[in-house]
Amino acid sequence: MNYLVTARKWRPQTFKDVVGQEHITTTLQNAIINNRIAHAFLFAGPRGCGKTTTARILAKVLNCTNSVNGEPCNKCEKCLSSASAQSLDIIEIDGASNRRIDEIRTLRESVKYAPTSGKYKIYIIDEVHMLTTESFNALLKTLEEPPEHVVFIFATTDIHKVPSTIISRCQRFDFRRIEMSVIKKLLKEIADAEGIQIDDLSLTFIAKKADGALRDAQSLFDQVISFTGGNVNADEIAKMLNLIDEEIYFAVSQAILDKNFSAAFEVSKKLYENGWNFTDFVNGLNEHFRNIMTVIICKNCDLIEEAEFYKQKYLAYKDKFSEGDMLRLLAYLNKLQNELKYSSNPKLKIEISLCHLIGLEKSATISEVLDKLGNSYSTPKSKTDFDSSPGFNSSKQINAPISNVRAINKGEIVVPDIKSFVTPTLSPTADFSEVISKWNNFIEQVKTDKFSFASVLLNSNPVDFNNNKIQLEVEHLEDGDIISEQKPYLDKKTKEVFGKKIELDVTQSKKGSKKKTNIAQSIPVKEEKEKGQYGNLKNYNYINKNSANHDLSNNNSKSDAGSDKSAVNNNSANESSLAKAIIEQLGGREIKK
Ligand SMILES: [Zn+2]
Repeated sequence: MNYLVTARKWRPQTFKDVVGQEHITTTLQNAIINNRIAHAFLFAGPRGCGKTTTARILAKVLNCTNSVNGEPCNKCEKCLSSASAQSLDIIEIDGASNRRIDEIRTLRESVKYAPTSGKYKIYIIDEVHMLTTESFNALLKTLEEPPEHVVFIFATTDIHKVPSTIISRCQRFDFRRIEMSVIKKLLKEIADAEGIQIDDLSLTFIAKKADGALRDAQSLFDQVISFTGGNVNADEIAKMLNLIDEEIYFAVSQAILDKNFSAAFEVSKKLYENGWNFTDFVNGLNEHFRNIMTVIICKNCDLIEEAEFYKQKYLAYKDKFSEGDMLRLLAYLNKLQNELKYSSNPKLKIEISLCHLIGLEKSATISEVLDKLGNSYSTPKSKTDFDSSPGFNSSKQINAPISNVRAINKGEIVVPDIKSFVTPTLSPTADFSEVISKWNNFIEQVKTDKFSFASVLLNSNPVDFNNNKIQLEVEHLEDGDIISEQKPYLDKKTKEVFGKKIELDVTQSKKGSKKKTNIAQSIPVKEEKEKGQYGNLKNYNYINKNSANHDLSNNNSKSDAGSDKSAVNNNSANESSLAKAIIEQLGGREIKK
């Protein structure tokens, strides 16, 4: 064979040579050393990261007659035959083209036959996720209890498409994407061995483009060698791979620092002219700011996967942005990544978004803001502090009251005696009737503040007034609790309406209380006179409560007489005062005895 691509020529022949997958190769080697070999393996991971290679090495070592430390000797007959793909005991099947049930049935039949020369018969099924559901099902039984001499090795790039019934019957190994530094190192070794001159930047370009897949990197490497004829030049590689020039990202970050909006349009023009993908650009920009973020946080460039040249450039950014700035920039870019997919004009979208990024103000932490506020608004100890503060010179009028207020000591504040300010609207010798005459007005005012509480008061009956205390009857004890809870409010409100603080003493009403009846009537009668209708809920209550004795609720015209009669019939101690109250309420009308 004249020419072999790098990926095949440099394909690892031992576990030791497999790069970036030590967690798997070590486990497999130990399993072989301890003779604890599973009957089915499942290798999952992204493309070009060594799954098939590892499967082949495993197959080889299983049949190797001189294996040392779990590694194949690569010298014995079995190793040589498997290396040249001539071993009859290692059967490689492409799952993508042998996916149907018939092919799997054939495989199932062949499993029964013993290996021709080696200890094991090994089936390597690549791209196993491509098998049909029927094929997977046909394989289940064999996979669970295969003959002793059979080992299955499955490889897949899409583990989610493999049924869990299959996964559970296998030992699963997850292959990792290979780090850029590892790829670069390996390519450098290959280049040295092949006598090819390649610089760090060129290797970075290749490794970056490969995106963690070693095979991709090796293919690109071959392509680059062919393109440049062995004298590798970074500019030519960038051109060949149509890589986005890294400088464009630095141009964006510099534009943000300089608030240079024109850069947005220059960058977008350059992207457009070079035919660079806008989505790739946003992804690259995201990574660029991620790199700046690591430099800001770590103060070094160890966590950056870039060429040395650019690492130094990133290091220069360590003091230029804050973490807060970066988080906001990255959040915006993440949003842009999604939005760009649905944009009908990506160029315009990029231009606007770059302008937005450039226009973002520097973020400040709360502590910074407080510090600044603290400096300009520092609490003055005396009036002179204010006067000396330049910020307040132009506003002395505002100063004066503030400093005056501040100058007052706690001890100097005189709380005026509330009593001395009371202008009584109830006469000092106010009696029950006077209170009653204001009761409705009081409830109306409560209604404007606390509507539901007013309804509680509406359902209660004032029955007496003594020593600035209104005796209040409630139907339910709970209403009493509610009224007690509102004491602070009532103190304020009674003072407002009655002109002095009046307490509400709550008792539960007894049905048919005479006193209640009398008082109850005195108000609705008056209100009827004034309003000519039962517009007020309070009236309605009184009337209903008293309807057993009087027919008020049925006939307006009758009500007067009824109420009068009841008042007259009442012989309680308060009769005279009540009668007087009623006369007042009725506008001086005489009561017929
Ligand atoms: Zn061997």
